[in-house]
Amino acid sequence: MSDSEVAVAKTVLIHGPISRTALAGRLGLSPASLTRLTRPFVDRGILVELDDVAEGVGRPSRPLEISPDLGTFVGVKITGEHVYAVATDVRARLLDEHVTALDSHDPALVLTAVERAIDRVVATGAPAVGIGVSLGGISDGSVVEWASFLGWTDVPFGDMLHRSTGLPVRVENDLIALTEAERWFGAGRGIDGFAVITIGAGVGYGVVAGGAVVRTPDAGIGLGGHIPLDPHGPICQEGHRGCSQAMLTSGSIAAQASMALGRPLTYDEVLDLARSGDPAASSIIDSSARALGRLIALAANLTLYSDVVLAGEGMRLFDVAEQTVRATVVESRDPRASEVRLHIDDSGFTGWARGAAAVAIQDAFDRLS
Ligand SMILES: [Zn+2]
Repeated sequence: MSDSEVAVAKTVLIHGPISRTALAGRLGLSPASLTRLTRPFVDRGILVELDDVAEGVGRPSRPLEISPDLGTFVGVKITGEHVYAVATDVRARLLDEHVTALDSHDPALVLTAVERAIDRVVATGAPAVGIGVSLGGISDGSVVEWASFLGWTDVPFGDMLHRSTGLPVRVENDLIALTEAERWFGAGRGIDGFAVITIGAGVGYGVVAGGAVVRTPDAGIGLGGHIPLDPHGPICQEGHRGCSQAMLTSGSIAAQASMALGRPLTYDEVLDLARSGDPAASSIIDSSARALGRLIALAANLTLYSDVVLAGEGMRLFDVAEQTVRATVVESRDPRASEVRLHIDDSGFTGWARGAAAVAIQDAFDRLS
């Protein structure tokens, strides 16, 4: 397949169902070229034509859609403690999910845990056709060059999983995978440029610019994690006062409240206490919400894009303190700047694994060419 043909298929995948007129407009193609480029996909059953839909006053159009029968894609997110697996269709819509605890970081044992999780999510339904794996670290697509949560250096995990399953496997940094999923299938679909901020065990940052995910070598090392946000905040493990990690991670928020209230508290308990008006928990959550608002405004100020996607397993902070976050975003922006549009992905860990599935789907489309 030529690059133009693959571009047509990807555009239908992301924006379909889409009329031929809209598709030709989006790709700058003549109707004749479009017909020529789509024919091989229609013949192979990758694209399907939907029933006639009246398009304005003109003649009816048969919108193109990606075939829903292209098999099941698997996404696996590996953290230091768990394996989160999902099965999705070709649009990264969730079909099944499974979480399993990880009691060792030995690559062979992690492989076994991943295989079992995959078996669980593809037990029913269409056969799996591709696997995406995401983790906090750097990968060339197959070899995990470095993953701090797992203590891995140069582990050929993609090859190991490919050999044991017989399926194509792509390994990707978790933030890049999540950002790809937001761009193709999620909150950022159809938006040319936006930032992704994740909160949870860590703080993650990704950028889409000019319709593509920024994939420099620096994109996967967590540079959004230590941005100064509050001169009076607590200190992170690296010694920064009030950095994004100190202000926004679930571990730091739980530790601050446990210290203040003199008993061990989880992140969710702190949020519950804040919601019920406990003064210490409210003060901590208020500071964290203001820090999140500052980080969002900084992202918009520095990318020059005004759309920001919020995601990650710690998103309950936004749920509890949304007004404070939004008010701080406005305070931290020049009044002449465009209003920041927040897009909320509250799918938590499922969202991370779905990001990995999106990488498997992209891999399948890349292999068409
Ligand atoms: Zn720090």
